[in-house]
Amino acid sequence: MYKAPRGTVDILPEEQAFWRYVEAKAAEVCQLYGYQRLDTPVFEEAALFTRSIGEGTDIVTKEMYVFKDRSGKQLALRPEGTAPVCRAYIEHGMDNLPQPVKLYYLAPAFRYERPQAGRYRQHYQFGCEAIGDGDPALDSEVIHMACQFFTSLGLKELTVQLNSIGCKSCRPEYIKALKGYYQERAADLCPDCKTRLEKNPLRLLDCKRQGCQHIADNSPRSTDYLCPECRSHFEVVTEFLRSLDLPFNFNHRLVRGLDYYTKTVFEVQPLAGGAQSALGGGGRYDDLIEQLGGKPTPAVGFAAGMDRVVLTLKKQGIPVPPLPLPEVFIAHLGNEAKGEAVKLAASLRSQGIGVVMASGDRSLKAQLRQANSLGTGYAIIIGEEEIKNRKLTLRNMVSGEQQSLTPAELRAVLGKGT
Ligand code: AMP
Repeated sequence: MYKAPRGTVDILPEEQAFWRYVEAKAAEVCQLYGYQRLDTPVFEEAALFTRSIGEGTDIVTKEMYVFKDRSGKQLALRPEGTAPVCRAYIEHGMDNLPQPVKLYYLAPAFRYERPQAGRYRQHYQFGCEAIGDGDPALDSEVIHMACQFFTSLGLKELTVQLNSIGCKSCRPEYIKALKGYYQERAADLCPDCKTRLEKNPLRLLDCKRQGCQHIADNSPRSTDYLCPECRSHFEVVTEFLRSLDLPFNFNHRLVRGLDYYTKTVFEVQPLAGGAQSALGGGGRYDDLIEQLGGKPTPAVGFAAGMDRVVLTLKKQGIPVPPLPLPEVFIAHLGNEAKGEAVKLAASLRSQGIGVVMASGDRSLKAQLRQANSLGTGYAIIIGEEEIKNRKLTLRNMVSGEQQSLTPAELRAVLGKGT
């Protein structure tokens, strides 16, 4: 027996109402903030991700699905959405458009992680990117938009974690201080952190091992090393957030798992669950476009994990609107009736009325049972009697009430959307 690959799930029909609800809210919030949709390929040149996410990150070293195609080109399944959007921005000359260019995507992402609740090898992200403007007002707008997305879904008990990790001019000084601090404590570090200390010191701060927590908690803070430009940027971001009455927690250990971030970084987490179950995160990435071959172009963005959003909606008991069902079920008895049913189904559908026609030749009882389980509001019954009288029986599936109608009367009743 074949099974879905480890760490992947099928999204079954009964789950779809949650997913369509989340997607619709994402599109709605994007419209409110002026973002347009962009779809990029599921795979890209592997180097796009290696260069942007960073060679020393877990995503690149342990999690990326990399493969050679038949021509020997090194490709990777998208592990995140920002780098492809930046690639498309450069490739399509979007720097010629009025800036910032605001783009959003809803797309699967692939990471070879250890599967657990809320952590999959294929997951889905809703992300937005505002490219081409360094204004701190845009950082706070993106944070506000992320929160608006979650609250408009009905989610509660979330916190915003905020930090600034500086820029290429002030970060080296901070990294020096961080390294010095960790070197003094190297003996107490986990093996992974010993490597991080050499290869990518910023990653030390998001180590999940118990033994490293105390060390990370008391480590130097990036915000104490910001250059005047980064400091004033961060001050404006927090000032705007306060003016929007958007509460946030300053978290000096928040560095995000990708190397391209500069200045503002943030995450939205459920109160219960913390960083491990972050619903979304983002920040500014002012050097990325240039690093990928474009002109120097500041940008800021955000991505939410849709799988975790759906899990949290269920956990918090938030009802979602049901998906529309076909309005009518057609039951038929006998060959002649079946022929009439085929024509009636086609004509109702051409009027925009959703129809499920019974297939096979089951008893009326069995056919109505099927109508019941489908949840259609009405069943139309065509039997010998109906054929003889050139009428149809319309049964209200909720009240059980039945009426005998001519085809024209039936169309009039159903056409009113009753
Ligand atoms: P990241 O940019 O890595 O923080 O990813 C953005 C969001 O995607 C996270 O906040 C999670 O909600 C979600 N996410 C990341 N990795 C996974 C995964 N393996 N499975 C499910 N959701 C994920």
